[in-house]
Amino acid sequence: MRIPIIAGNWKMNTTVSEAADLVRAMQAQLAALTGVERVLCPPFVSLTTVGQIIRGSAVKLGAQNMHYEEKGAYTGEVSPLMLGGLCEYVILGHSERRQYFGETDELVNRKVKAALKAGLKPIVCVGERLDENEAGKTEEVIVREVRGGLSGVEAPTSLVIAYEPIWAIGTGKAATGPQANATISLIRRTVAQLYGDGFAEGLRVQYGGSVTAANIAEFISQPHIDGALVGGASLKAAEFVSIVEQTARIKKG
Ligand code: PEP
Repeated sequence: MRIPIIAGNWKMNTTVSEAADLVRAMQAQLAALTGVERVLCPPFVSLTTVGQIIRGSAVKLGAQNMHYEEKGAYTGEVSPLMLGGLCEYVILGHSERRQYFGETDELVNRKVKAALKAGLKPIVCVGERLDENEAGKTEEVIVREVRGGLSGVEAPTSLVIAYEPIWAIGTGKAATGPQANATISLIRRTVAQLYGDGFAEGLRVQYGGSVTAANIAEFISQPHIDGALVGGASLKAAEFVSIVEQTARIKKG
Protein backbone atom coordinates (compact mmCIF):
# COMPACT_ATOMS: atom_id res chain seq x y z
CA MET A 1 0.00 0.00 0.00
CA ARG A 2 1.69 3.23 -1.17
CA ILE A 3 0.71 6.44 0.61
CA PRO A 4 0.03 9.07 -2.07
CA ILE A 5 2.18 12.18 -2.01
CA ILE A 6 1.34 15.62 -3.38
CA ALA A 7 4.15 18.18 -3.43
CA GLY A 8 3.81 21.84 -4.31
CA ASN A 9 6.82 23.31 -6.11
CA TRP A 10 6.54 27.07 -5.70
CA LYS A 11 9.62 27.62 -7.90
CA MET A 12 11.01 31.18 -7.83
CA ASN A 13 7.73 32.70 -6.67
CA THR A 14 6.65 34.43 -3.45
CA THR A 15 8.54 36.82 -1.22
CA VAL A 16 8.88 35.68 2.38
CA SER A 17 5.70 37.51 3.40
CA GLU A 18 3.81 36.22 0.36
CA ALA A 19 4.95 32.69 1.20
CA ALA A 20 3.66 33.14 4.75
CA ASP A 21 0.31 34.37 3.42
CA LEU A 22 0.06 31.47 0.99
CA VAL A 23 0.77 28.78 3.57
CA ARG A 24 -1.61 30.41 6.07
CA ALA A 25 -4.34 30.34 3.42
CA MET A 26 -4.06 26.57 2.97
CA GLN A 27 -2.58 25.19 6.15
CA ALA A 28 -5.72 24.44 8.19
CA GLN A 29 -7.43 22.61 5.34
CA LEU A 30 -4.29 20.74 4.34
CA ALA A 31 -3.62 19.69 7.91
CA ALA A 32 -7.14 18.30 8.29
CA LEU A 33 -6.85 15.91 5.33
CA THR A 34 -5.61 12.36 5.93
CA GLY A 35 -4.35 9.49 3.80
CA VAL A 36 -2.08 11.62 1.65
CA GLU A 37 1.32 13.11 2.34
CA ARG A 38 1.45 16.86 1.62
CA VAL A 39 4.73 18.63 0.99
CA LEU A 40 5.29 22.33 0.38
CA CYS A 41 8.48 23.38 -1.43
CA PRO A 42 8.88 27.16 -1.12
CA PRO A 43 12.04 29.04 -2.11
CA PHE A 44 15.05 28.56 0.22
CA VAL A 45 14.60 31.97 1.85
CA SER A 46 11.08 31.07 2.98
CA LEU A 47 11.80 27.59 4.37
CA THR A 48 12.18 28.82 7.93
CA THR A 49 9.06 30.97 7.89
CA VAL A 50 6.88 28.35 6.22
CA GLY A 51 8.36 25.70 8.53
CA GLN A 52 7.39 27.73 11.60
CA ILE A 53 3.83 28.13 10.36
CA ILE A 54 3.30 24.40 9.64
CA ARG A 55 5.19 23.19 12.70
CA GLY A 56 3.24 20.56 14.63
CA SER A 57 0.93 19.81 11.70
CA ALA A 58 1.22 16.88 9.31
CA VAL A 59 2.13 19.20 6.44
CA LYS A 60 5.76 18.66 5.39
CA LEU A 61 8.44 20.86 3.96
CA GLY A 62 10.78 20.38 1.02
CA ALA A 63 13.50 22.34 -0.76
CA GLN A 64 13.67 22.77 -4.53
CA ASN A 65 17.36 22.01 -4.99
CA MET A 66 20.66 21.73 -3.13
CA HIS A 67 24.41 21.39 -3.71
CA TYR A 68 26.02 18.00 -3.18
CA GLU A 69 28.87 19.22 -0.97
CA GLU A 70 28.32 19.61 2.76
CA LYS A 71 30.13 22.96 2.90
CA GLY A 72 32.79 24.99 1.16
CA ALA A 73 33.56 27.74 -1.31
CA TYR A 74 30.43 27.50 -3.46
CA THR A 75 29.07 31.03 -3.36
CA GLY A 76 25.31 31.19 -3.45
CA GLU A 77 24.74 27.47 -2.90
CA VAL A 78 22.84 25.66 -0.16
CA SER A 79 24.12 22.37 1.26
CA PRO A 80 22.39 19.19 2.43
CA LEU A 81 23.57 19.86 5.98
CA MET A 82 21.92 23.28 5.94
CA LEU A 83 18.65 21.79 4.72
CA GLY A 84 18.82 18.88 7.15
CA GLY A 85 17.60 20.96 10.06
CA LEU A 86 14.96 22.73 8.00
CA CYS A 87 13.09 20.31 5.81
CA GLU A 88 12.38 16.65 5.11
CA TYR A 89 12.26 16.48 1.30
CA VAL A 90 14.35 17.92 -1.52
CA ILE A 91 13.45 18.08 -5.21
CA LEU A 92 16.43 17.03 -7.34
CA GLY A 93 17.00 17.11 -11.08
CA HIS A 94 13.96 19.23 -11.92
CA SER A 95 13.89 19.81 -15.67
CA GLU A 96 14.31 23.56 -15.11
CA ARG A 97 17.57 22.81 -13.29
CA ARG A 98 18.64 20.53 -16.14
CA GLN A 99 17.59 23.04 -18.82
CA TYR A 100 18.71 26.39 -17.36
CA PHE A 101 21.54 25.34 -15.05
CA GLY A 102 23.09 22.51 -17.02
CA GLU A 103 22.41 19.76 -14.49
CA THR A 104 23.38 16.36 -15.84
CA ASP A 105 22.45 12.87 -14.69
CA GLU A 106 25.88 12.67 -13.07
CA LEU A 107 25.29 15.82 -11.06
CA VAL A 108 21.80 14.71 -10.07
CA ASN A 109 23.33 11.41 -8.96
CA ARG A 110 25.82 13.20 -6.69
CA LYS A 111 22.98 15.19 -5.20
CA VAL A 112 20.86 12.08 -4.62
CA LYS A 113 23.73 10.45 -2.73
CA ALA A 114 24.38 13.60 -0.70
CA ALA A 115 20.70 14.03 0.17
CA LEU A 116 20.38 10.45 1.39
CA LYS A 117 23.58 10.79 3.42
CA ALA A 118 22.13 13.88 5.11
CA GLY A 119 18.84 12.10 5.87
CA LEU A 120 16.87 14.11 3.33
CA LYS A 121 14.22 12.43 1.18
CA PRO A 122 14.89 13.05 -2.50
CA ILE A 123 12.13 13.63 -5.05
CA VAL A 124 14.04 12.83 -8.24
CA CYS A 125 12.57 14.32 -11.42
CA VAL A 126 12.82 12.65 -14.81
CA GLY A 127 11.13 13.46 -18.09
CA GLU A 128 11.58 13.73 -21.82
CA ARG A 129 11.55 16.83 -24.04
CA LEU A 130 8.93 17.30 -26.75
CA ASP A 131 11.35 16.45 -29.56
CA GLU A 132 12.41 13.30 -27.73
CA ASN A 133 8.78 12.35 -27.21
CA GLU A 134 7.95 12.91 -30.85
CA ALA A 135 11.00 10.93 -31.96
CA GLY A 136 9.81 7.94 -29.90
CA LYS A 137 12.69 8.29 -27.45
CA THR A 138 10.68 8.59 -24.23
CA GLU A 139 11.61 5.14 -22.98
CA GLU A 140 15.32 5.60 -23.73
CA VAL A 141 15.44 8.99 -21.95
CA ILE A 142 13.51 7.84 -18.91
CA VAL A 143 15.57 4.69 -18.41
CA ARG A 144 18.79 6.71 -18.81
CA GLU A 145 17.70 9.35 -16.29
CA VAL A 146 16.45 6.85 -13.72
CA ARG A 147 19.57 4.68 -13.99
CA GLY A 148 21.85 7.74 -14.11
CA GLY A 149 20.25 9.42 -11.12
CA LEU A 150 20.45 6.26 -9.03
CA SER A 151 23.82 4.97 -10.21
CA GLY A 152 25.80 3.49 -7.33
CA VAL A 153 23.02 4.19 -4.83
CA GLU A 154 22.26 1.23 -2.57
CA ALA A 155 18.52 0.59 -2.17
CA PRO A 156 17.60 4.07 -0.86
CA THR A 157 16.01 4.44 2.54
CA SER A 158 13.66 6.95 1.01
CA LEU A 159 12.97 7.82 -2.60
CA VAL A 160 10.20 9.45 -4.61
CA ILE A 161 10.43 9.75 -8.38
CA ALA A 162 8.48 12.42 -10.26
CA TYR A 163 7.76 11.75 -13.92
CA GLU A 164 7.52 15.18 -15.52
CA PRO A 165 7.38 15.25 -19.32
CA ILE A 166 9.09 18.56 -20.08
CA TRP A 167 6.55 19.46 -22.74
CA ALA A 168 3.84 19.35 -20.07
CA ILE A 169 5.52 21.61 -17.49
CA GLY A 170 3.95 25.04 -17.21
CA THR A 171 2.43 24.69 -20.68
CA GLY A 172 -1.16 23.83 -19.78
CA LYS A 173 -0.71 20.77 -22.00
CA ALA A 174 -0.76 17.85 -19.57
CA ALA A 175 -0.10 14.25 -20.56
CA THR A 176 -3.12 11.96 -20.50
CA GLY A 177 -3.62 9.68 -17.50
CA PRO A 178 -2.93 6.49 -19.50
CA GLN A 179 0.19 8.04 -21.11
CA ALA A 180 1.62 9.03 -17.74
CA ASN A 181 0.66 5.69 -16.23
CA ALA A 182 2.48 3.77 -18.97
CA THR A 183 5.70 5.75 -18.49
CA ILE A 184 5.47 5.45 -14.73
CA SER A 185 5.03 1.71 -15.11
CA LEU A 186 8.30 1.76 -17.10
CA ILE A 187 9.97 3.70 -14.25
CA ARG A 188 8.79 1.05 -11.80
CA ARG A 189 10.17 -1.74 -13.99
CA THR A 190 13.50 0.09 -14.30
CA VAL A 191 13.71 0.51 -10.53
CA ALA A 192 12.80 -3.18 -10.10
CA GLN A 193 15.87 -4.09 -12.15
CA LEU A 194 18.00 -2.04 -9.74
CA TYR A 195 16.50 -2.90 -6.37
CA GLY A 196 14.08 -5.79 -6.89
CA ASP A 197 10.33 -6.14 -7.29
CA GLY A 198 9.47 -5.51 -3.65
CA PHE A 199 11.24 -2.17 -3.59
CA ALA A 200 9.68 -1.11 -6.89
CA GLU A 201 6.22 -2.09 -5.66
CA GLY A 202 6.63 0.20 -2.66
CA LEU A 203 8.18 3.09 -4.61
CA ARG A 204 6.04 6.19 -4.93
CA VAL A 205 6.05 7.81 -8.35
CA GLN A 206 4.38 11.14 -8.99
CA TYR A 207 3.18 12.68 -12.22
CA GLY A 208 3.98 16.35 -12.83
CA GLY A 209 3.15 18.70 -15.67
CA SER A 210 0.22 21.13 -15.74
CA VAL A 211 -1.64 19.33 -12.94
CA THR A 212 -4.71 21.27 -11.81
CA ALA A 213 -7.78 20.67 -9.68
CA ALA A 214 -9.63 19.97 -12.93
CA ASN A 215 -7.38 17.13 -14.12
CA ILE A 216 -5.85 15.57 -10.97
CA ALA A 217 -8.56 12.88 -10.86
CA GLU A 218 -7.48 11.59 -14.27
CA PHE A 219 -3.95 11.01 -13.03
CA ILE A 220 -4.56 9.84 -9.53
CA SER A 221 -7.07 7.21 -10.64
CA GLN A 222 -4.30 5.45 -12.59
CA PRO A 223 -2.82 2.43 -10.76
CA HIS A 224 0.86 3.39 -11.08
CA ILE A 225 0.48 7.11 -10.23
CA ASP A 226 0.96 7.80 -6.52
CA GLY A 227 0.60 11.55 -6.45
CA ALA A 228 1.68 14.72 -8.19
CA LEU A 229 4.39 17.32 -8.25
CA VAL A 230 2.44 20.51 -8.79
CA GLY A 231 3.93 23.79 -10.01
CA GLY A 232 1.62 26.64 -11.01
CA ALA A 233 -1.49 25.28 -9.30
CA SER A 234 0.35 25.00 -5.97
CA LEU A 235 0.47 28.81 -5.79
CA LYS A 236 -3.33 28.96 -5.48
CA ALA A 237 -4.35 27.87 -2.00
CA ALA A 238 -7.86 26.63 -2.79
CA GLU A 239 -6.73 24.78 -5.91
CA PHE A 240 -3.85 23.04 -4.14
CA VAL A 241 -6.14 22.00 -1.28
CA SER A 242 -8.60 20.62 -3.84
CA ILE A 243 -5.81 18.60 -5.52
CA VAL A 244 -4.83 17.08 -2.17
CA GLU A 245 -8.44 16.48 -1.17
CA GLN A 246 -9.32 14.73 -4.44
CA THR A 247 -6.19 12.59 -4.17
CA ALA A 248 -7.10 11.51 -0.63
CA ARG A 249 -10.65 10.66 -1.69
CA ILE A 250 -9.80 8.78 -4.88
CA LYS A 251 -6.92 6.79 -3.39
CA LYS A 252 -9.03 5.78 -0.38
CA GLY A 253 -11.33 4.29 -3.02
C1 PEP B 1 6.78 21.54 -11.85
O1 PEP B 1 7.32 22.59 -11.67
O2 PEP B 1 7.30 20.53 -11.39
C2 PEP B 1 5.54 21.50 -12.62
C3 PEP B 1 5.03 20.33 -12.91
O3 PEP B 1 5.00 22.70 -13.01
P1 PEP B 1 3.50 22.94 -13.57
O4 PEP B 1 2.56 22.18 -12.64
O5 PEP B 1 3.29 24.41 -13.51
O6 PEP B 1 3.44 22.38 -14.95
